[in-house]
Amino acid sequence: MTNTSPEQLVEWSKNHILPSGMPLGAFAKKGPPASAITSEAHDIHMKDVNGHKYIAGASSAVNVNLGYSNPELAQAAYDQLIKMGNGGFTPGGGSTASIEYAHALAQVTPEHINRFMFVHSGSEGNDSAYKIARYYWTIQGKPEKFKIISRKMAYHGLTIGSMYATDGAAFRTNYGPQPPGYVQIPAVHCYHCPFGKNYPGCNFECAESLAEAIEKEGADTVAAFVAEPIYGVAGTLIPPAEYLPKIRAICDQYNILFIDDEVMTGFGRTGKYFAIEHWDVKPDLLIMSKGMTGAQLPLAGIGVSDAIFDGMSGAAPFVHFHSTGGHPACCAVATKVLEIMDRDKLVENSAVLGERMLAGINEMSDHAHVADIHGQGLFAGFEIIKDKGSRTSYNPALAVPRKFTQATMKQGLGVRASVSTGRIQVAPPLVATSSDIDTICDILKSALDDIVLD
Ligand code: PLP
Repeated sequence: MTNTSPEQLVEWSKNHILPSGMPLGAFAKKGPPASAITSEAHDIHMKDVNGHKYIAGASSAVNVNLGYSNPELAQAAYDQLIKMGNGGFTPGGGSTASIEYAHALAQVTPEHINRFMFVHSGSEGNDSAYKIARYYWTIQGKPEKFKIISRKMAYHGLTIGSMYATDGAAFRTNYGPQPPGYVQIPAVHCYHCPFGKNYPGCNFECAESLAEAIEKEGADTVAAFVAEPIYGVAGTLIPPAEYLPKIRAICDQYNILFIDDEVMTGFGRTGKYFAIEHWDVKPDLLIMSKGMTGAQLPLAGIGVSDAIFDGMSGAAPFVHFHSTGGHPACCAVATKVLEIMDRDKLVENSAVLGERMLAGINEMSDHAHVADIHGQGLFAGFEIIKDKGSRTSYNPALAVPRKFTQATMKQGLGVRASVSTGRIQVAPPLVATSSDIDTICDILKSALDDIVLD
């Protein structure tokens, strides 16, 4: 417990914090609202410094999968830190904790992915995967294959490397020129199809646009295509069943790698260990983070398929490391996460409660302003729309999504409004109960009644 008063915390924030995502001058004058400063969090609940308690309906950044202040995870970190707080730094070495974790992780990743490198964040995971893809092609004698293709509405992180795979002016403006080698194709978004088509009577221009981009750039210049199997930061958007198999086929046809970014969707979030398992699709590289430690400590990983590892092997070393990558305490916690997920059947819980949550959200589908509801496991999203008939969205200047999240917050539920699409995202911790899910759905409905929509 802190003894610092809310007023003092706001004052210190004003003076000492360099915040993300807001005008800095205004922040330095006013600081954050005290309601934005968290003081405590337990189970699936958070509390701000004013004492307002709420359900973390988006699990913070869709990452606190096993609840806040989980004693078993805390104990695993403590035990590891007391035994060995740092695993040293020897090329090819590691710590008992990181090697044991890699072994345990290989039991839950897709069968063909058995080898991992550990970093700290999803953004770093993306940067590292792009480097692995480029290195792979260099070792294959094709160093000119370096471009990374991503999609509109994608989020892959905010380091310089991952930011240019991420879409959106809000994320990419003001940081100098874009480095070479980043290409984006249109989004897959059936409700607001960028090609003006209607699924299933379309020709999957969204997937075909990957082939077109590769042809335009030249397949001999493209290293990889990166995608979230289910859009996350854009507000839980599930592609039609045919999309990812078509993408995989195009990657094969043009000989480019498919990087599966499961930073948000991994570790049971969608009711399977990894979202890609909802399709019969095998990625070449798999990026994970968030749910790996339930966001109790920073950890990310890049899984490499057996075939890609073989293709990288026996040549010059792959030099890529961070001083504390694969930290023993993070790996010990991540190992404990796997143990708890297995023991408490949390992947199954996500699938079962996900259906309940989707059914609850679907009860709002008759509402004149609720549209395009998606859900897979405890990972759901919907749009609050101006006009369903013409599929016209609200003008972002009206800040309807923010008004909605403020209304849910007043009633004790925090959910996300996507910065890029305005979609509302609901993704409670995987340890939620059916009664938590019912409360969440009740609050969503009642908050909708609380805001004025026309
Ligand atoms: N990739 C995906 C799919 C994400 O959802 C995120 C974060 O939300 C990232 C990458 C970046 O992860 P981090 O914020 O840990 O850098």
